[in-house]
Amino acid sequence: MSEVRGTRSGAVRRAAPWLAFVAAAAVLPLLSGDPTITYLATTAGIYVLVGTGLNLMFGYTGQVSLGQGALVAVGAYTTGILMADHDWTFWAAAPVAVAVAVGAGTLMALPAFRLSSWYIALVTLGAAMAARSLLVEFEGLTGGWSGLTGIPRPALGPWELGERDILWLVLAVNVMLLVMVRTIVDSRLGRGMMAVRDAPEMAQSVGVAPARMKLFAFACGGGTAGLGGALLAVHHGLVTPDDFTLDFSILFLLVVIIGGAARLAGPIIGTLLFFALPELLTGLAEWRGLIYGAALLVLMVYAPQGIAGAWERLRARRQDSGPPSETFGTDIPVEAGPPRGKPLGVELIGVRKSFGGVRALQEIDLTIEPGTVHAIVGPNGSGKTTLLNVISRLLRQDGGRVILDAEDVSRAPAERLARRGVARVFQTPRLLGASSLRDNVLLGAYPRERAGGPATVLRLPWARREQAELAQEADRLLAGHGLAGRAEEQAASLPHGEQRLLEVARASMARPRLLLMDEPAAGLTPRELESLGRLIRAIRDSGTTVVLVEHHIELVASVADVVTVLDRGRLVTSGPPQEALGDARVVEVYLGAPA
Ligand code: ADP
Ligand code: MG
Repeated sequence: MSEVRGTRSGAVRRAAPWLAFVAAAAVLPLLSGDPTITYLATTAGIYVLVGTGLNLMFGYTGQVSLGQGALVAVGAYTTGILMADHDWTFWAAAPVAVAVAVGAGTLMALPAFRLSSWYIALVTLGAAMAARSLLVEFEGLTGGWSGLTGIPRPALGPWELGERDILWLVLAVNVMLLVMVRTIVDSRLGRGMMAVRDAPEMAQSVGVAPARMKLFAFACGGGTAGLGGALLAVHHGLVTPDDFTLDFSILFLLVVIIGGAARLAGPIIGTLLFFALPELLTGLAEWRGLIYGAALLVLMVYAPQGIAGAWERLRARRQDSGPPSETFGTDIPVEAGPPRGKPLGVELIGVRKSFGGVRALQEIDLTIEPGTVHAIVGPNGSGKTTLLNVISRLLRQDGGRVILDAEDVSRAPAERLARRGVARVFQTPRLLGASSLRDNVLLGAYPRERAGGPATVLRLPWARREQAELAQEADRLLAGHGLAGRAEEQAASLPHGEQRLLEVARASMARPRLLLMDEPAAGLTPRELESLGRLIRAIRDSGTTVVLVEHHIELVASVADVVTVLDRGRLVTSGPPQEALGDARVVEVYLGAPA
């Protein structure tokens, strides 16, 4: 039995290298009398801080930004103005700086809801450029080109913090942030973020609202950049527009990518390499641009996951996992809990959907009775997937209505249906490829997990207990789908058939009241097929409506209560399996017999 994450000894073992690193950084200024070392270490620490915020935003949520430097400027200037011109203390100014940067970061996020990530990169780059000219324009406030000087050191009562104290403050903030990011990444929130990054439609289908997730990510990125700016202001004692060039903005994205996006250590490695190393190798200063350009190219070709990613791969290769422990058995207990409520019925009234000239669905009237297995069959391109997309709201129909359990959901977003108990298995598996099998199954629990952001970040006992219980449930479900003992493996490493089973396990984890399955049998072996049939019947018997899109006629005949046949977007017939499948028109649809 593999260890469920969160056990104390595991946590200590994982934390050990980090603690060693932080301790080394903390004693650095004591060992070396050289003040420049302390100075550089503090700057590096601030960069790690900003990089870690961007890692949460870009690495884990997939929201690219070239504007982090501008948000650091916002934080630094806010702090500088409040402290130098208005005699605020650092402790009062820093939270305001964070709040202003969160606001600015959120503003930058607005285009993210409409644009693809590379356009967002351009928008954020534009924002960074605009911010710099604003700094110069608003001379009265910002001091124009000469900037703000005379920013005092933070003080605790009568005691003013020295250069070393600021380094320790920066280290302490970094440790807190890293713990927070680790906690988020391992939680419901983090799984939602990664779902938005890896498969937005799947994210919606498990109840994640992508817009809210992106907003949260940008707010986190903005907040950490603002905090970094506040620390930078008191570290330097002055802020000028020259501190916030375009290079500075781009630096953070490079630091995250080079170090390893979506890895906690990524920003640390990136900062050491991109900032600390060149500062120490001053003799090479002239060549720096060339060396880094070349290093970037080599890295992107040979280690696209950054240095931390390459290291992980090396380690994984060394401790090769050996043969899988168990395969999909024949009498597997299904360990899904009971559905979250009564089974849901669906009614489609005159539903139409076209893609350009292709009429994928034409005037579909269909009733899916609660508690049944309702199969949808038909040749390729007949509109089956489109039908599931309309029911689950991933697509908006052109006309007609969709009624879910007496409620008109014709305009509801997909994530709301997920919260009402609709789950989905996709035709091509959509998974968190870089995450463990356990995390993939846990994602299915998203709509029923209670712990939100605050409870997670504060590590409240009940939230941690919930997490541990769900993890056990996920492990049982994995075992029930022939993946026992493999909870820690990476989803992307599974063969196709098992990825499919993993999707089914994720859907079961939702304890759905309506389960939409798109060709779950494709690519399964006969033995697996048999198990799948039993599984589908068990899901129905537990009180879940199942809509099964399937080519495999034997499977359909053995599990379906009702079969609906589609052809070129039209409903051909609908009825009990023997009747519907024996219908002359259906034989014609499948065998292409002349009319
Ligand atoms: P099935 O699942 O039965 O194979 P689909 O519902 O995927 O069929 O597709 C029905 C028709 O709609 C096909 O002709 C397909 O090419 C078209 N179609 C489906 N989705 C899209 C889309 N997003 N854009 C354009 N055409 C689409
Ligand atoms: Mg399809």
